[in-house]
Amino acid sequence: MSARSRSGVEFGVIGGGLVGAAVAYGLMRKGRQVALFDEGDVAFRASRGNFGLVWAQGKGDKLEDYAPWAREGAAMWGDFAKELTASTGVDLELEQRGGFVFCADEVALQARAEIMERLYKRSGLQFEVMRPAQIARFMPGVSANFAGATYTDEDGHANPLKLLRAFHAALAANEGSLRRGARVDRIEPLSGGGYRIATAESTVECGSVVLAAGLGNILLAKCLGVTLPIKPMRGQILVTERYEKVLSVPSENVRQTQDGTFLLGGSWEDVGYDTSTTFDVTRDIAALVVRYFPFLEKVRLVRSWSALRILAPDNAPIYDEIAPGAFLVTCHSGVSLAAIHADRVAGWISAGSIPKEAAAFSLNRFTEADRREYAVG
Ligand SMILES: Cc1cc2nc3c(=O)[nH]c(=O)nc-3n(C[C@H](O)[C@H](O)[C@H](O)COP(=O)(O)OP(=O)(O)OC[C@H]3O[C@@H](n4cnc5c(N)ncnc54)[C@H](O)[C@@H]3O)c2cc1C
Repeated sequence: MSARSRSGVEFGVIGGGLVGAAVAYGLMRKGRQVALFDEGDVAFRASRGNFGLVWAQGKGDKLEDYAPWAREGAAMWGDFAKELTASTGVDLELEQRGGFVFCADEVALQARAEIMERLYKRSGLQFEVMRPAQIARFMPGVSANFAGATYTDEDGHANPLKLLRAFHAALAANEGSLRRGARVDRIEPLSGGGYRIATAESTVECGSVVLAAGLGNILLAKCLGVTLPIKPMRGQILVTERYEKVLSVPSENVRQTQDGTFLLGGSWEDVGYDTSTTFDVTRDIAALVVRYFPFLEKVRLVRSWSALRILAPDNAPIYDEIAPGAFLVTCHSGVSLAAIHADRVAGWISAGSIPKEAAAFSLNRFTEADRREYAVG
């Protein structure tokens, strides 16, 4: 082990997944001095295992303020992607021409439409309920063997791996900002304000610290005496061989990437920290998507993976200052919210506090029962 070095920065951001990288990138763009500490792929990393939707529809049913926030986040994506691509040369493969959520039967479609109606009142997000014949205009090859789908023209998808690569490239271009393979073991408040961040290799003092380490935040927050109500929720995703480009918009179960593969998913499984893939879930995902798109039966699966979502009891983000100058940023929708994290959330942190209008996203909203159920070790 090398001798421990000491240095100081304005902001220490812990976690180099999509959330921490977005905040660090945003702080850097605002001219702030940032060090991003990332343990790397040995840690749980939702950012390398997600579906890549840039999605507003359906968000905010349990937390009212999340509906307009998610809509604004999706709306910011176009300009954000242009800027990030211009500065890094990485094409994020953004397509934002609409998106569907399929419903197998009439009961599910009716329930979905009611949720979308409630969310429309909260955020103004327009939606349509479409039957399979209408959906076929956007998604050739769709079957008539299901009730229908909700559709909004504000949703879309991007390549999440390229998004992560672009954030890291932007940070790496600023010497000292990206510290890879740097697992933070301890955060300690300094007597005169600020924090000491300790890795195995070094100790760094910073004015403010941002906990943005996904599930790793559970341990980090404990250093500051805070128990977080978040838990892992496994999702399995299947990948097919390449196919001619047929789908111009994604759905929550099927999206075709720019290179022609289909991503099929994704399960929601409350199985703790188990990241295996399983035969039964693979079979169920494949059966459902073949029901919607019969031509997929003849397209070969080449790969599958699982990753752990970072879930709060209401599926909404948490933004809070959990100790003076120590900010917590975590969410389940790190792709969809990447633009708004880099802009608005980084702006709050740069200014030194979470504003009152974002109070709905604080930890205070959770009940004791939420905390008991979600505060896993
Ligand atoms: C199956 C699945 C599908 C999804 N689909 C979508 C989607 O379509 N659209 C969407 O918007 N979102 C989606 N998500 C959610 C999205 O992937 C996550 O919201 C996002 O990746 C969370 O990013 P994060 O940075 O908070 O966490 P992570 O990606 O888990 O990253 C955490 C980072 O912190 C680092 N770390 C942990 N502990 C420490 C420590 N002590 N010190 C230093 N570093 C540490 C790790 O190395 C890691 O890099 C999906 C997630 C899953 C699992």
